[in-house]
Amino acid sequence: MTDHYVVFGNPIAHSKSPLIHRLFAEQTGESLDYQTALAPLDNFPAFARQFFVTGRGANVTVPFKEEAYRLADQLTERGRRAGAVNTLARQADGSLLGDNTDGAGLVRDLTVNHGVELKDKRILLLGAGGAVRGALAPLLAEEPYVLVIANRTVEKAEQLAKEFAELGPVLPAGYDWLEEPFDVIINATSASLAGELPPIAPSLIQPGETFCYDMMYGKEPTAFCRWATEHQAGQAVDGLGMLVEQAAEAFYVWRGVRPNSAPVLAELRRLMAQS
Ligand code: NDP
Repeated sequence: MTDHYVVFGNPIAHSKSPLIHRLFAEQTGESLDYQTALAPLDNFPAFARQFFVTGRGANVTVPFKEEAYRLADQLTERGRRAGAVNTLARQADGSLLGDNTDGAGLVRDLTVNHGVELKDKRILLLGAGGAVRGALAPLLAEEPYVLVIANRTVEKAEQLAKEFAELGPVLPAGYDWLEEPFDVIINATSASLAGELPPIAPSLIQPGETFCYDMMYGKEPTAFCRWATEHQAGQAVDGLGMLVEQAAEAFYVWRGVRPNSAPVLAELRRLMAQS
């Protein structure tokens, strides 16, 4: 029997998740169907509950991750910490488990796909929204020397730093407080969506060394990746790998099988270059 999965979002038509999960299913021989589901902005819980009468699992994207967190009957530890859920799984007793695989996907892309060692490193996170909240626990678990959260609205960075302080050395900052170079800089602001950059000094890059990562991705290099390359960053990479890795982690939660993400990422890059 084919098991049914969806990704809930609004808008959702351009989601790459159905393609990614179709490729995972083909590769692993798992029998599943995965579609997009345009959920209504004013009635996500009822819409999701209706799907789960027969559906086995769902991914959740903008703007429903916090609502999915509240909908879940149980949460994984990383889902609870993130305060947002991107993966729902129907359990044998019909209850819904909520998880957040975004941060694990980021860390796996950095450490496995790009070979970046995070232990004892100085890491700078730009932004203090949902993506940063999901990334903090998995990043701190890698035992960096320090993790600085810089945000336009400094109070949000301060709040996150306070909430996660028990997990490791995490400090808040405003963009103009920072001058010294970091080993790793991760852009998690939505400024990228408008082709903009947060106001950060080029001195944050150690030429030839600093690894720069943009959670955003696209056919062309993002504004942040272009900025990083201009200032001689060691490497500048986008977040397509994070997208594929968070999906692989969700697939594992649902099916207990871990797909090989590398060929799927390569196929996605190839299709994006053609589009
Ligand atoms: P949120 O809306 O929760 O947070 C947005 C953040 O961006 C806030 O910190 C906000 O600052 C900051 N920001 C927005 N505009 C500007 C600007 N012009 N200058 C400086 N800062 C700005 O978004 P998310 O955290 O959910 O997503 C952030 C990014 O991560 C998006 O680009 C998203 O596409 C990407 N993402 C990628 C994933 C992947 O799999 N590759 C997964 C999840 C997210 P302030 O608090 O001051 O408003």
